[in-house]
Amino acid sequence: MKYVIITGGVLSGLGKGIVVSSLGKLLDSRGYSVCPVKFDGYLNVDAGTMNPFRHGEVFVLDDGTECDMDLGNYERFTGNTMEYANNPTGGKIFGKVIDKEREGKYLGKDVQFIPHVTGEIKDWVEDIGEKQNAEVVIIEVGGTVGDIENSYFIEAMRELHQDKEEGEVLFVHVTLVPILDVVGEQKTKPTQRSTERLLGMGVQPDFVVGRCEEGLNKKVKEKISLFCNVPVDHVISDPDCESIYKVPFLLEEENFSKKVLEELGLPNRPKSMERWKGLVDNMLNPEEKIKIAITGKYTELKDSYVSIIESLEHAGAHLDLGVELAWVETTRIEQGETTVEEELEDVKGVIVPGGFGSRGTEGKIDCIQHCRENDIPFLGLCYGFQMAVVEYARNVCGMENAHSTEIRDEPEHNVIDILPEQEGVKGLGGTMRLGGQDIYLKDGTYVQSIYNGKNKVRERFRHRYEVNPKYIEEIEKNGLFFSGTDKSGKIMQFLEIQDHPYFVATQAHPEFRSKLEEPAPVFKEFLKKAVKQ
Ligand code: GLN
Repeated sequence: MKYVIITGGVLSGLGKGIVVSSLGKLLDSRGYSVCPVKFDGYLNVDAGTMNPFRHGEVFVLDDGTECDMDLGNYERFTGNTMEYANNPTGGKIFGKVIDKEREGKYLGKDVQFIPHVTGEIKDWVEDIGEKQNAEVVIIEVGGTVGDIENSYFIEAMRELHQDKEEGEVLFVHVTLVPILDVVGEQKTKPTQRSTERLLGMGVQPDFVVGRCEEGLNKKVKEKISLFCNVPVDHVISDPDCESIYKVPFLLEEENFSKKVLEELGLPNRPKSMERWKGLVDNMLNPEEKIKIAITGKYTELKDSYVSIIESLEHAGAHLDLGVELAWVETTRIEQGETTVEEELEDVKGVIVPGGFGSRGTEGKIDCIQHCRENDIPFLGLCYGFQMAVVEYARNVCGMENAHSTEIRDEPEHNVIDILPEQEGVKGLGGTMRLGGQDIYLKDGTYVQSIYNGKNKVRERFRHRYEVNPKYIEEIEKNGLFFSGTDKSGKIMQFLEIQDHPYFVATQAHPEFRSKLEEPAPVFKEFLKKAVKQ
């Protein structure tokens, strides 16, 4: 097993995760089995309790782990299924060390960062690499070199490098090369300084990847090579581009994956990226473009809806269709600052995504009603599914005060209610109904046809509330049909209105399983219908 360790320099948000994902994709396309791992230095156990406003989307894995959005990219690029251990955090590592100390496992020693915490980290990455049969473990050290938060992860990787044979552990430093407006010149000083900082921690990078608005010029590569102590052909240019899915090709222009394999002493197998290339070409030059609205309260921070945006891109690439997004801040509808008609005027379809709490809810319900009554394709995801039920109960079934008990304590008709298994749950961390679950689709339904006639499909979940079983019969009698349930048949997981171009919603989050090469069926069908409108 070999290791490639990716650190970040100068500032965060450089796209280290995309470098990891792209390298993973390139090695995978050459037939290597890879295992991407993300270190997060924060002391939270996972991202589940973090505000998507500040940190971006909480991604959910099949095993129910709530984690950083980067893990979503690892899955989307490599096609691998990530699990709990692919995302060690400060909280998980320290939790383990403290548990061991309480169990008396350290045999009277004082417990220290080195070797106990760093040892735990090294064991962790070796274990997950072995479990996933990896030939190459690609590790992203979250944060920036120089942060206290990730310093013990970097130290652990220095030790790993020392423990292993020459050529088994490689370091790649991804750093910023800014262009100074006044002189229009690519500047290397921030890269020199952050590499120095890394050297001060005992780590000599083998590659420097320069993130820059444009490709690095020859002079700059030579300068980085000289000051950072790496061969000039190990200075890799990673310029800005239109789509993250294009990054593997940019890195390949520099023969990055071939050089990495060389350094690791692994043979250079032929790669197959044609399908990926065709899809990226479609994505960047679509035949047609349509406008799709997404409603929500986090609309200022697009990162909180990353997986939905990606899913639309994936589906679009397969249909040769570009999607322009219209963000609808539904609180503005509630406050009378705008109207549903105005917001949805020229959109071809509407997505009401997941959410928590009451803000913007009534505006979402208004949008759903507008779609239902005007034959506009609608896709509801999790909270969007629940609000579609509330809307239907209120406006079609005559239950005027229908609501979810998440929003109102005792609504007259609690058509959405807490899951029985969730009653009495105290803490907020990792306690929802989480992760991959099987969905049993009813024969002859539209949703079943979307999934190619399958009876059982798997999607990921993250919720505490559900359709109140008490109301199912009444709602179905009025024309809103629940086309998929859990195995017991008690938890409703899909709904559809058959007499509508596309009115589909799900308690699940199909956006977490969508990949460029394998788009989520509900998104693809949604766009297909939207473009026809
Ligand atoms: N707040 C809702 C629930 O907990 C929906 C959750 C979501 O959209 N992820 O059931």
